[in-house]
Amino acid sequence: MTVVRMMLTYKYRVKDATAGKHLDRHARACNYVWNYCCQIQRQAERRWKWGGNARWPSAFDLIKLCTGSAAELGLHSDTVQTICRQFATSRTAHKRCPRFRASGGPKRALGWIPFISRALKINGAHVTYLKRKFHFWKSRDLGGEFKAGCFAQDARGRWYVTFRCEVVDALPSGNGEIGIDLGLKTLATCSDGTTVPVLRHYRRYQAVLAVAQRARNKRRIVAIHAKIANARRHHLHEQSTRITRENALIVVGNVNAAKLAKTRMAKSVLDAGWSTFRNQLRYKASRHGARYVEADERLTSQTCSDCGAVSGPKGIAGLGVRHWDCSDCGASHDRDVNAARNILGVGLERQAPAVEIPSL
Ligand SMILES: [Zn+2]
Repeated sequence: MTVVRMMLTYKYRVKDATAGKHLDRHARACNYVWNYCCQIQRQAERRWKWGGNARWPSAFDLIKLCTGSAAELGLHSDTVQTICRQFATSRTAHKRCPRFRASGGPKRALGWIPFISRALKINGAHVTYLKRKFHFWKSRDLGGEFKAGCFAQDARGRWYVTFRCEVVDALPSGNGEIGIDLGLKTLATCSDGTTVPVLRHYRRYQAVLAVAQRARNKRRIVAIHAKIANARRHHLHEQSTRITRENALIVVGNVNAAKLAKTRMAKSVLDAGWSTFRNQLRYKASRHGARYVEADERLTSQTCSDCGAVSGPKGIAGLGVRHWDCSDCGASHDRDVNAARNILGVGLERQAPAVEIPSL
């Protein structure tokens, strides 16, 4: 067992039937602060354009400019400061002025009200923010002290409250070792022969979606898409939890762009599935004190995992081959399971530190 510290985000649905209107009001005020930061930034850029020596306003500058505005806007001063900091971070990361956040109309920004721990109190299943109670569905306990968080809205207009907690963990881990080959037909094939299927919920919902689209029922369409996304996320969580619980070493193949190029599948969708799955494996492995390794997967589908000869199907023609026999030792292989075994082999060879803590 290993003790690990890491930041985790917990998200709860707010009972927003009546509280929603207060959150909406706060969100508008937050947008106001954000847009003010945008204006300051654009002024600085304009000055620079005309030859002036204008440096970009830092988070500190913005906070100073916003001093005293919190009370007038009906916000907590920590919230205003957090927005300024977030603005500066986002601008520096993208090297350009972030977009305005519209409070209404078709391009409305989804509500967002950040806070830090001293601005808000958690009491059982409600939080007190600006002297008002916001109840939420407490689906699980927080794993530690929360440092910061936000109220956030989804595309359906529902409100959630999220907390970033520092979690100290010593979760039990299994002692297995597993190699994972990420694929197209199945999301992942493991070296022990188990697979993680790609959920094609879209097909199941297609008929319902078509009805909603013909009826131009926007709310319904958004709801169905949210349902699909939820189901997909739940599925990945279930699988990654199982894998990290049972194993002490988890080796995953790195992305193979060549595999993607050969298909007409929506690259981005698939890509997102892979990276979500890998991220979940990485942080859950760290919570369970397991080792997570990413291994180079070149040649892993062509090498025999029994004798090491490169005797498997090669090239584009070989991509369709699901089963093959090794010409050297005669072992019969399922292509993906064999690849997963080789990936595990690569991971076992590599010497890595006992615990890899993801940088957050
Ligand atoms: Zn062989």
